Amino acid sequence: MNPDYRRQVLTGWGLTSPSAALVGEVVPGELAERLKEPTGRGIVARGLGRSYGDAAQNAGGVVLRIGSSTSEVVIDSDSGTVTVGAGVSLDELMRILVPKGWFVPVTPGTRFVTVGGAIASDIHGKNHHVEGSFGRHVRRMSVVVANGDLVECSPAENPDLFWATIGGMGLTGFVVEATFGLIPIETSRCVVDTVRCRDFDELIGEMSIGDDDVRYSVAWVDLLATGRRFGRGVLWRGDHAKLSDLDAREAGDPLRYEPRRVVTVPPIVPGRGLVGATTSQIFNELWLRKEPIRRSGSVKSIPSYFHPLDSISSWNHLYGRGGFVQYQFVVPFGAEAALRSIVERIVASRLASPLVVLKRFGEANEAPLSFPMPGWTLTVDMPAVADGLAELTRALDDSVLEAGGRHYLAKDALTSAAIVRAGYPRLREWQEIRERWDPERRFCSDLARRLELI
Ligand SMILES: Cc1cc2nc3c(=O)[nH]c(=O)nc-3n(C[C@H](O)[C@H](O)[C@H](O)COP(=O)(O)OP(=O)(O)OC[C@H]3O[C@@H](n4cnc5c(N)ncnc54)[C@H](O)[C@@H]3O)c2cc1C
Repeated sequence: MNPDYRRQVLTGWGLTSPSAALVGEVVPGELAERLKEPTGRGIVARGLGRSYGDAAQNAGGVVLRIGSSTSEVVIDSDSGTVTVGAGVSLDELMRILVPKGWFVPVTPGTRFVTVGGAIASDIHGKNHHVEGSFGRHVRRMSVVVANGDLVECSPAENPDLFWATIGGMGLTGFVVEATFGLIPIETSRCVVDTVRCRDFDELIGEMSIGDDDVRYSVAWVDLLATGRRFGRGVLWRGDHAKLSDLDAREAGDPLRYEPRRVVTVPPIVPGRGLVGATTSQIFNELWLRKEPIRRSGSVKSIPSYFHPLDSISSWNHLYGRGGFVQYQFVVPFGAEAALRSIVERIVASRLASPLVVLKRFGEANEAPLSFPMPGWTLTVDMPAVADGLAELTRALDDSVLEAGGRHYLAKDALTSAAIVRAGYPRLREWQEIRERWDPERRFCSDLARRLELI
């Protein structure tokens, strides 16, 4: 076994299902050699470990972090693209891009993800309903496949590998470099409109009209409120601010970008953590009241609009040693009644934390394992050690499938192989492509074994 590897226990962001692997950090040029070495139970890439479950873990095998330098970031202003090593994080990238007047095509709720992780999960952001997921913006990438070859792929060249790698959860090879499109911006601020909604019907109604005219749209739902307040929430819609949106002081330095971390949660939070039904209920009430009933044109910074949680380091420790799960699914448009009954079930369980997101997705892309489809996606965090969680999620899994939906692999910790097979009708097609590029099944992960992906 390679002497540079260290045995390490890894978890995802949810801190559940720890497993031990040999972990190493490599530069792309070393990957071919590393793939020739015996790896026990296979090998998989790890970015910044922001997937919630076991996607970037490999019990008894090898897990590799790919080092990439920000000095190799190349912006092409003519085509509006950037070429970047896959180990570079969106945080590092935005610190380079924003002051030059560019923004990443898609950002998740945290900027601490790598480009490789963004491609492997085909991440989505607040702009999915108009601009799709990350994979739609990737023009080309280079991937080190199982035999050690560096393979160039794009929608035109080796398209099977290209689309199987987007959303392929690291199981087709190591992405080492990618070129993708950027959004030109005049300022580093965003203009945001807020609407506070009294109940579920009002929220769904507000979201159903007008989304197509705005670039960014997402809602928060209070999943502890009952009775008349069931499904109340707040909808925020926005776009990048133009120079003319800024006051004279801000317009003097329109592309200033200085994200900061304000506090750190220590690794030891006692017992079942600080997130319980009562604390969450109080938080939700305060959170809702601070929002205006309707306001247009608030100017916010990129961190406060896109990545508010990033100002608190290690906030995942708030749930205590047992960790938490993030349950995320999508159901197609037309299944609003099913969505409502799923939400009712979650509310009745009293397991939801304040971290809840509801969003309308737009068109899917060509990647067989890409999660988004046109419809409603709901994301909810719940403590992993809560009584009744397994029964709740099993029941929700069935309802999601019955409604024609599916679950997001990058967030999953609890679902089953059968549920994923049913939710991803193109899984077999993806497996056949994977098999061609990795016939000996060198790439493997805990997620792949648990959900029988390979
Ligand atoms: C606070 C928070 C908010 C989030 N919000 C969103 C959101 O809004 N939308 C969304 O879509 N996701 C969201 N996520 C999930 C996150 O975007 C994805 O899990 C992303 O894949 C994490 O990237 P990472 O670099 O940490 O990868 P890891 O978590 O380390 O790995 C994820 C997967 O990518 C693979 N991988 C990593 N690097 C490579 C590589 N170089 N080559 C091949 N495969 C690779 C791994 O094998 C693994 O399967 C959020 C996560 C957090 C913690």
